[in-house]
Amino acid sequence: MCQRTKQVWPGRGFLSAPIPGSDVMAKSAFLHPTTPPAEDQFLTIVRGEGALVFGDDGKAYVDGMASLWYCTIGHGRQEMADAISRQITTLDAFHTFERYTNPPVEEAAARIAALSPFDDPRVFFTGSGSEAVETAIKLARITHSLAGDTDRKIIVSRVPSYHGVAFAGTTLTGLPAFHEHVGPLLPDVLRVPHDDLAALEEVFATSGDRIAAVIAEPVVGAPGVYPPAPGYLEGARRLCDEHGALLIFDEVITGFGRLGTWFGAIHYGVTPDLITFAKGVTSGYLPLGGVVVSRRVLDVLENAPGYFLRHGHTYSGHPTVCAAALANLAIVEREGLLERAKHVGQRLGDGLSGLIDGDRIVEVRAVGAMFGVGLADGLDPIRIREELIDRGVIARPIGTSTVAFCPPLVITDEHIDQCVSALEEAVTAACG
Ligand code: PLP
Repeated sequence: MCQRTKQVWPGRGFLSAPIPGSDVMAKSAFLHPTTPPAEDQFLTIVRGEGALVFGDDGKAYVDGMASLWYCTIGHGRQEMADAISRQITTLDAFHTFERYTNPPVEEAAARIAALSPFDDPRVFFTGSGSEAVETAIKLARITHSLAGDTDRKIIVSRVPSYHGVAFAGTTLTGLPAFHEHVGPLLPDVLRVPHDDLAALEEVFATSGDRIAAVIAEPVVGAPGVYPPAPGYLEGARRLCDEHGALLIFDEVITGFGRLGTWFGAIHYGVTPDLITFAKGVTSGYLPLGGVVVSRRVLDVLENAPGYFLRHGHTYSGHPTVCAAALANLAIVEREGLLERAKHVGQRLGDGLSGLIDGDRIVEVRAVGAMFGVGLADGLDPIRIREELIDRGVIARPIGTSTVAFCPPLVITDEHIDQCVSALEEAVTAACG
């Protein structure tokens, strides 16, 4: 624990001096993401094994959220350490701009392409989901521009939605809190309610010839776990086709097994033009994201005379990260985790749904192995998180009335049941 003295800055602007004599106890040097900056109560996690993580006091917690929706294969797997270590001692890193490639990136791209719902796609790699979203948006605009449709700039996104924290993604994210203080946001973004096909139709009716793409999470994740309204994704596909726009599925959460299929597009039987992914592709052992690019886009990019794709990250196609992806995907396949998602979905879904009483828990929104538990008015999801932590379960409060569960797919039945009983106790304690 860092013991340095903290300087308190008055709210008088960037160049203000610290108030003399206002030293208070230190916070750590780590400025946490997605956290109030003044927060100073943290749970230190030191170890993980399967669906459990352990605090620095040795206490075990069921990781009811696969960390942050990503740890599909569970924590602490030697096979992952071995694959990563082997790659580091063979070729740690080398960039892939221009004429360079490496075996793991070629193999990972081929593997992900084969798992995708596309015929003959290619895969662009990034380091995160946010970068994947930026990439998809740029590819959509580039594709229309190269095809001579230079007015197509508008991206349509849904409310609520979450598309990461880079600038395009922040703008596209349909959660107003993420827009506070950071504007002006990107122009040429239109928003529609997430479940209202008529609203999407309306936007196409007025701006159809200027829409480059619609971006949609097959299941809205971080804002609260909202499955698509029946026919919505099919309708979005139809409208994009009728008006010449591209359809982007942001599968950062739904990709690689969460819904019991390799992609949400496969689960819903709707094929987009671009798929963003991250999280479950490596189960978080190393950070990786990317975009699966369909032929419809590739045919334009590859055939544009003299075109040079001026878009790439230093770590696009990092061999060690790609080796981690390959090892992770091999585990998902070998251990039948797609099937297992169905079992986890059934058992945890039954358990959570059994807690619906109308007074405290009003609904459970679920697809595959991702769940949003809707709390009654007045029940604070942050309080529920705390009560759950006391009972050895980590879940995630989202929005004003939801607690999310999205456990590793290797979670045991015993630990699934612990999530359910802990939630029941947590809700009772919070109401008491
Ligand atoms: N898109 C979706 C659907 C997400 O759920 C997330 C993260 O939760 C992102 C994009 C951003 O990914 P990252 O946090 O890896 O940048």
